[in-house]
Amino acid sequence: MNLPLLIRLGAQTDTGRRRAHNEDRFAVGTDLPAGPWDVFPEDAFPVGPLGVVLMVADGMGGMRAGEHASKIAVEAVRALFSNLSTLPASDEAALEYVKEALMTAHRAVADDAGRNPRRTGMGTTAVLAWIIADGIFLAWSGDSRGYLFTPAGELDLLTSDHSLVWELVKLGHLTPEEARRHPESNLITQSLGDDFHRPAPDVAQARLTPGCRLLLCSDGLNGMLSDDEIRQLLSTDAPPGRTCDALIDAANEAGGLDNITVVLLDVVTPGDAA
Ligand code: CA
Repeated sequence: MNLPLLIRLGAQTDTGRRRAHNEDRFAVGTDLPAGPWDVFPEDAFPVGPLGVVLMVADGMGGMRAGEHASKIAVEAVRALFSNLSTLPASDEAALEYVKEALMTAHRAVADDAGRNPRRTGMGTTAVLAWIIADGIFLAWSGDSRGYLFTPAGELDLLTSDHSLVWELVKLGHLTPEEARRHPESNLITQSLGDDFHRPAPDVAQARLTPGCRLLLCSDGLNGMLSDDEIRQLLSTDAPPGRTCDALIDAANEAGGLDNITVVLLDVVTPGDAA
C-alpha cells in the first residue's frame, strides 16, 4: 500500500472592493469525522483515512440572504461529513456521495427559505471536493470552479460552469475568455436552494500527483483574472496560504468587483516536506 499523500492547505475569502458584504463561504475538513473544521496545520500533513473535504459556496439573494444561503449549504455539508464512518465502496459511490451532499445542502437552503419569507429566492452555488487517498471527487452546482495545476505547469479546469455564457462556450460560440468578459457572465442556470428549478449537480473525478495544486474558487476570482493569469499565480513555490493571498490581491487589483474565495490544496513532492 502506498503511503498517504502529504498535503499543504490554504484558504481565504475577501469581500472585494465593490460589495458591502461577503456572501461567499468556504469549508475545509481535514480531520474527519469529528475534528474541527477550517483548522489545519501550516506544515505538510498526511491525508487522513476518511479523506479531506473542501468546499466553496457563493450565495445570492437580497437583504443579505445570500450570506445565509452559503452558510446553510456549508453547514449541511459539514454535518454530513461529520457523521461519516466509512469510505464509499467505489469511485462511483464517492461521486454519488458528493452529489447527494450538495442535494442535501440544496434541501437545507430551500427549507430555510420556506420558513423565512424574507429569504425567498435565496440560493448559492457550491463546489465540493472530497479527497480520498490520491482521488479527487468533485460535485458542483452553479459557476464556482475547481482547477488542477499540474507539475508540468498546466492549468486544467475540472468543472464546467452552469451558466448561460458557458453553454455558449460548450457550443463553440464563445471562447472561455470571451465568456469571462461577457456582460451576462453572471447568469447561472442552476444553484442550490432553488425549488422551482431544482439543481442537478455535475460530478467529475481527477487524480492528485506530487507537485500538483488543487484550487477551488468563486467567480470573484476567475471573473477578474484570466485562466492564464491564475496559472501564472499558481506557478510559484510559495506555500498555499501565501498563494491564496496573492490570488485575492490580484483579483482586487483587477477591480475586485465581487467577493473572492479561494481554497488551495498542494501535494508535497517527496523529499520536499521539511
Ligand atoms: Ca460571486
